Amino acid sequence: MGGETRAQRGPKSDYALQAPRPVGQMITNIYKDRINQLTAGGQYAGHNLNALMNEAVVSGQPHVQLSVWHAPDQTRPSFKEATSHEFKRTNAGEWFGPSWTTHWFKVVLKVPSHLRDKRLLELHWDANNEGLVWNEHGHPLQGLTGGNERVEWVLPDSFRNGEEHLIYIEMACNGMFGNPGGDTIQPPDPNRYFRLDRAEIVAVDPDARQLHIDYWIIGDAAREFPQDSWEQHKALKTCNQIVEAFDVNNRDSLKVCRKIAEGYLGSQVDSSAVYQSGKEPVVFGIGHCHIDSCWLWPFAETKRKVARSWSNQCGLMERYPELHFACSQAQQYKWLKELYPSVFDRVKRKVAEGRFHPIGGSWVEHDTNMPSGESLVRQFLYGQRFYESNFGSRCQTFWLPDTFGYSSQLPQLCRLAGMSRFLTQKLSWNNINRFPHTTFNWVALDGTQVICHMPPSETYTAEAHFGDVKRSMSQHKSLDQDHTSLLVFGKGDGGGGPTWQQLEKLRRCRGVSDTVGVLPRVHLGNSVDDFFDKLERKADSFVTWYGELYFELHRGTYTTQSNNKRNNRKSEIVLRDLELLATIASIKDESYKYPKKKFDTMWEMVLLCQFHDCLPGSSIEMAVHESMEMYAEVFKIAESIFKDISEVFGVSQVRTTTVADGIALNTLPWHRKEVVDISENEAAVACGNGPLLRLRTLKTSQDDPLVSAKQVSKGIFVLENDQLRVRVEAGAITSLYDRKAERELIPKGQKANQYVIFDDKPLYWQAWDVEVYHLDTRKPLHSGETKIHEIKKHSASLITHTKISDKSSVKTIITLGAAVEGQQSHIEVAATVEWHETMKFLKVEFPVDIRNTEASYETQFGIVRRPTHYNTSWDMAKFEVCSHRFADLSEHGYGVSILNDSKYGFATAGNVMRLSLLRSPKAPDAHADMGTHHIRWGILPHQGGLSHVTVRKAFEFNNPLKLLSSRAAGSSSPGSLVLDLARPPVCLTQDSSPALVLDTVKRGEDDEDVSRGELPVKEGRSVVLRIYDSLGGRARGTVATTWDVTRVCKVNLLEDELDEVKFADGEFAVDLRAFEVATFKLQLA
Ligand SMILES: [Zn+2]
Repeated sequence: MGGETRAQRGPKSDYALQAPRPVGQMITNIYKDRINQLTAGGQYAGHNLNALMNEAVVSGQPHVQLSVWHAPDQTRPSFKEATSHEFKRTNAGEWFGPSWTTHWFKVVLKVPSHLRDKRLLELHWDANNEGLVWNEHGHPLQGLTGGNERVEWVLPDSFRNGEEHLIYIEMACNGMFGNPGGDTIQPPDPNRYFRLDRAEIVAVDPDARQLHIDYWIIGDAAREFPQDSWEQHKALKTCNQIVEAFDVNNRDSLKVCRKIAEGYLGSQVDSSAVYQSGKEPVVFGIGHCHIDSCWLWPFAETKRKVARSWSNQCGLMERYPELHFACSQAQQYKWLKELYPSVFDRVKRKVAEGRFHPIGGSWVEHDTNMPSGESLVRQFLYGQRFYESNFGSRCQTFWLPDTFGYSSQLPQLCRLAGMSRFLTQKLSWNNINRFPHTTFNWVALDGTQVICHMPPSETYTAEAHFGDVKRSMSQHKSLDQDHTSLLVFGKGDGGGGPTWQQLEKLRRCRGVSDTVGVLPRVHLGNSVDDFFDKLERKADSFVTWYGELYFELHRGTYTTQSNNKRNNRKSEIVLRDLELLATIASIKDESYKYPKKKFDTMWEMVLLCQFHDCLPGSSIEMAVHESMEMYAEVFKIAESIFKDISEVFGVSQVRTTTVADGIALNTLPWHRKEVVDISENEAAVACGNGPLLRLRTLKTSQDDPLVSAKQVSKGIFVLENDQLRVRVEAGAITSLYDRKAERELIPKGQKANQYVIFDDKPLYWQAWDVEVYHLDTRKPLHSGETKIHEIKKHSASLITHTKISDKSSVKTIITLGAAVEGQQSHIEVAATVEWHETMKFLKVEFPVDIRNTEASYETQFGIVRRPTHYNTSWDMAKFEVCSHRFADLSEHGYGVSILNDSKYGFATAGNVMRLSLLRSPKAPDAHADMGTHHIRWGILPHQGGLSHVTVRKAFEFNNPLKLLSSRAAGSSSPGSLVLDLARPPVCLTQDSSPALVLDTVKRGEDDEDVSRGELPVKEGRSVVLRIYDSLGGRARGTVATTWDVTRVCKVNLLEDELDEVKFADGEFAVDLRAFEVATFKLQLA
């Protein structure tokens, strides 16, 4: 064949033979910086996307008519009260204040005809403070934050009819973080005023708004994806294409831009359908609003924050079907129920739909360092009972993202309260060591475990940024075991929870993962329980963490706001005592009704004050005053309960003046023998183990006093009883000699009971932190001459004045009482401190001749051991720790315990034990701890190691016998019931392990004569006993009772029956593992 043209081989190509023009590579940094231009303020704002956000805006008359009523002083009146007043004309641009005042606005809206058909109409209200939108019938609709945050309220379609429509806005003159007079934590400025910047009807361009979010997320991908990934380059290119396609003079260009964005985000980001791709997600987003029950604002304001925040979420759920919202703190639900019933009903409906998730199982998000074991129990009991009675189910997850350290017994208590999961993240704030796990099993002192998850995004108020999603994988520390995580997002406090912007961003993050990749795939639409359900299936393989989750920050919170701590301790004691006595009274005398309602009121206030910015002392002064009022109310109710009980017992509350009429009230569950003062010159011995102890005269002879006090040389005194010899010089103990053990306890040349003062300027968080370097500033205080204070037959005391500064001083009384045969004697110290310092920390120290690398500290239902050295940074981080009633340093065969009546901060460095007394931070409360303080502590040397001797002495130190008169008021003969109360109606028998403590005796929550009807009534009467092993070993014993018991069950903290226990002849056996907390329910005939 010849002569014909051969066809070209291969597919046809448009590829030009010659390069038509030069094409350059994008210069990354310049094109990256350009991304900002489309959305930035400043010189381009009028020419970029900002210029197209709204189609039209109207304000002022006649479209937005405003009038206002100013609530008097700092009152927070109800809707009904507020709207009954006359409102006066006002306008945008006006100022409102001062701080903490409330202003109610009538807002009359009339949509002009040219806006009626616009796609999206909103009221934009920005007064730079918090607000709540109400409808004209008094139902709260939505919260407003101010300062350009959550300023939009979507107008209902019914407002488009050209008529006038009325709404109300309740303005609170505080920002989301109160009214700080400087940086965030400075004490409030009482004189802040707020300008109403905007009150306008806006026709929003939804395309512009959506493009703005598209562009935000793709821009983040361009900035944050690794530069060696094609996904980063594609994001950069997409952004630049959008910039080029945008035309400020043509709204149609918005659609073109969005189409370009779709190439990176996929086509589903405009709805919740984006989450239905069927691809396996790894990050589970849950909406949340961390509302501090008080902090930089008073409790009273929190009640409104709850209504604002939760109504927001109910509204958002209508627009965003994927939104699931978890919220904790039963107390906040209760406030809502009482003060905003229509919002509570709305929340209830969302709970029923499975969208709004009550979580946490506790009354508030409480501190876990300082509350007693029983307080932790009640946090769960009151929390879970509220949830169960109002929403039909209990919580499975203990939720405590923001608390300052976590007690080693929490896993055990959680499991006993029906919760096997725990969420926190505060340890990411550690400023010395990085906590090594994200998902792990956390193990209590007794071996009980819970699954713990700490969101790797390291926040409980995530903004749902691209970076939060990214960090949910990049900061995950447990990838060997599991690579899923929770993303807890939503603005906290006054921010009102998740915002529509956050939900839109997350849709796009999911779109990126499904369309391009790299970004961990986020999912919305599940609950926290769903997340933990998946973890639980493989939890057996998770790593473990034994013991406390010590928080390496905020160590000052064991000491700051000393009065709150003291009140907390006293309240816990009074509640314990009264529940025991009221239980006995209610069984003894059927006409006496167990005062359940009063106990509930007291407990709810005590539990509320344990909130993690209240008891730790990190709130403003207003909140401190509110808590003082609550404690005062607790003690007042306590008095009224005790008055009724003493009538049943047939005793008079009048303190006896004679041994014959005297009765000592004892609430501790073991045999006591103590010397008590009857009058100035008469003492008696109270002895026995029932609730009411008889007295007998203390026999002494002039020649051989039980205690002596001698001045051995000028200003040097020796106090001595049968067991101890104490030498005191200028207020310090220079010798403490155990006569029985023949042992000196103060190292030569050292001084115990020595006051020391430190400079206390932490890096930032004043009320919260004491920093490690404060130790370098230690200065011993020099005291004046010691003098004899009082010498009695059975006790002797010395008094010393110590000047701290020109303004501050301490008066110290050191007392040695008579030694009681068979009991360990101790030295008691009572200090009255006048405290007016600035950024100083007062402690008292006790060098002792004891050697151990670990010291022991009482914690809830047990003991924590912590290092006395600084070997590693983990050891060093514990330079200040939390302790309850005692701290102990023991070596083999001997030890010294330091007892206290109201303190929680302690340190043991080498052989020096140091009790923290008072701090003086100036923020957020400028007057924290200023004034007079009464503090007691005790020095208890003991032969043998740490034992029940210390545990019991610490209880006794905190629960002194109370002297009463057995002669009923107005009667000439002793009360008739006294005698049978000399025996305890329930106790651990003599042969029981002394490590066992019968801590709580109370009536069953739902007994027919006790129940307040929250949960189904249970037939008959019952008594609940809580017993724990206090020392950390298997402990066996026998509980004996004189009550007519028919059946005994082991129950959990919520009083659900677990196992029936064999009960015969008025007795049942208990057998507890080390540090077990066991609860028993005794059903009465
Ligand atoms: Zn908080």
